[in-house]
Amino acid sequence: MSLDLHVDGKRWRDHLVKTVEATPGIVPVAKGNGYGLGLSKLARRAQWLGADTLAVGTYEELPAVADRYLGDLLVLTPWRPFSPLPLDLSRVIHTVSRPQDLAALREIDPHARVVLERMTSMRRHGMSAAELWAIQARHEGVSIHLPMAGGNYAEGRRLMDDVIGAGATTVWVSHLTPDELVRLRSEFPDVTFRVRVGTKLWLGAPETLTVSATVLDVHELQRGDTFGYRGRHALRNGHLIVASGGTGHGIGLEAPTGDSSPRARAAAAARGALDAAGLVRSPYFLDGRQLYFAEPPHMQASQLLLPQGHRVPEIGEALQLRVRHTATSFDSVTIS
Ligand SMILES: *Cc1c(COP(=O)(O)O)cnc(C)c1O
Repeated sequence: MSLDLHVDGKRWRDHLVKTVEATPGIVPVAKGNGYGLGLSKLARRAQWLGADTLAVGTYEELPAVADRYLGDLLVLTPWRPFSPLPLDLSRVIHTVSRPQDLAALREIDPHARVVLERMTSMRRHGMSAAELWAIQARHEGVSIHLPMAGGNYAEGRRLMDDVIGAGATTVWVSHLTPDELVRLRSEFPDVTFRVRVGTKLWLGAPETLTVSATVLDVHELQRGDTFGYRGRHALRNGHLIVASGGTGHGIGLEAPTGDSSPRARAAAAARGALDAAGLVRSPYFLDGRQLYFAEPPHMQASQLLLPQGHRVPEIGEALQLRVRHTATSFDSVTIS
């Protein structure tokens, strides 16, 4: 049984158009699980939005977007000599984060299009200022990937000197606020800013996204009854709801705290009896009320506790969920 994502198409598309209009130089990012929507849907949407460049995370993701999106394709993971080379090289822009990789790549393909990555405080990939300045070869700009924490203006401003020093006229950035971008653009009017956006584009209007599962079974529980793989006992009367969605979908991978020290139990007791029993909140909601896992989720289903006194759902009824879209596999994605 399934875990489904439903998108309110009109409002979602309105949000996309507004975001693109408000973000000059935008480069949509489609990577991983396609932000829960799937790479192919994002590729088609980027084409519809008229983006001239689409970024993917890895070379392996190129085939999923290449025949649905016709513009340039920027690969965000830096090229390495062991990277698989895409078949159609002309549309691909490689990210290069080490001087020796640039030489090796150009040996394979003298026409390879590249963006040079400058190391940032993230310390993920990138060249030092000196390495960047030493590069004489042709390139399509410098990339700086800033942390998510925000407040990136000062670092962005400092790294711009390296970009200018490298003779670049284009800088590819992420995680700068609109205000920070306006400021940097006014300080560097001759530089073209390309702005990589994933989350704030595809998932930036959460009210347009609904995740639902289905009630597969409902069982009455008397205090003391056993349930689940682990033979837990019900602490009080209520119902056990079996719903679609489990670890196979990326649901609730964190297990119950298991912390049964007196202190943890006291803290939990203050929050409620189910917390006190070492149970964890699930991402499932019934009538706006967050349900607890009866035990850790199974591969394709989850067992949830419904305390007495609440409306008991029908089999076949939908439950709503709040999930991390980038870490969830949906069985279906419907865009109205
Ligand atoms: C993933 C990624 C982005 C997009 O990040 P979001 O937070 O989803 O907008 C931008 N730049 C790089 C280099 C990335 O890897």
